[in-house]
Amino acid sequence: MKTVTFRNGVSVPALGMGSWNLGDSKANRADEVASLRAGLDSGLSVIDTAEMYGSGRSEQLVGEAIAGRRDEVFLISKVLPSHASRSGTRQSCQDSLRRLGTDRLDLYLLHWRGSVPLEETVDTLIALQQDGLIRQWGVSNFDTEDMEELDAIAGAETCAANQILYNLEERGAEFDLLARDRENDIVTIAYSPLGQGGDLLHDPVLAEIARDHETASGPATPAQIALAWTISRSNVLSIPKAGSLRHFRENRAALDIVLTSGDRDRLDARFGPPRHKTPLAMI
Ligand code: NDP
Repeated sequence: MKTVTFRNGVSVPALGMGSWNLGDSKANRADEVASLRAGLDSGLSVIDTAEMYGSGRSEQLVGEAIAGRRDEVFLISKVLPSHASRSGTRQSCQDSLRRLGTDRLDLYLLHWRGSVPLEETVDTLIALQQDGLIRQWGVSNFDTEDMEELDAIAGAETCAANQILYNLEERGAEFDLLARDRENDIVTIAYSPLGQGGDLLHDPVLAEIARDHETASGPATPAQIALAWTISRSNVLSIPKAGSLRHFRENRAALDIVLTSGDRDRLDARFGPPRHKTPLAMI
């Protein structure tokens, strides 16, 4: 199984599980919990959530799914920029831990940049790490210039991850950000790797490539090719969200798909890599 390794030496499968919008519907709850548990059963460990998602409902659902299995999970959550002051970050972290039913996060991220000085947030994240509430800290939606600014802050060299929008339709980070983060031992976490289930999954080139790959349950799907592509990048952890067991199983099987150089060329011809710097896209 392809893995990525964080700066503290912890390795995780390169495919994880997102959770935005999970926990919002009573009708889907059982299937959503089953999907996350099936992930753990199959050896996936990363679950990504945030205090923002459903105002805590996603964290509560994740807490339900991982109850009694905390040691199998690499748990990521995020603090909202509006809460990222010294006292606010600590409070948000404690609230997330309570909703998740745990005493520690494996990775805690600043969700995006806001008005609180970055030094204050970084200092607090490092304090939470020293206090054992979080194992590692990182950032999200940080472009190259944000990472440069971060570099100038004391302790920033312990930043472990940058979670960004990255999929076949949004490849801007390949211009300089991915390499920069890799050189600095910062894992890139690719969010919305399926393009949020939109047009990407109806792309004819993805459909053609999918037909060339067999999986245990028949020909591959465009979603699996989109995921296999993100997973194939070095130092990238991909976190699709699946709201059902059916989608989860399909996504899990993408880990076994190996794209050929011919596939990659076709994908590059269809979804070109960036030729110049563009601002990091975000959702
Ligand atoms: P994704 O690209 O993961 O797409 C999720 C959508 O794709 C859902 O509608 C889902 O439907 C559908 N889907 C999942 N699997 C399949 C499949 N095999 N075939 C067809 N459709 C499928 O989008 P997200 O925006 O959810 O991103 C993933 C995760 O990244 C989030 O859940 C969140 O944890 C994180 N994130 C972080 C952000 C940040 O700012 N740091 C911003 C956005 C996301 P269904 O639910 O029915 O399975």
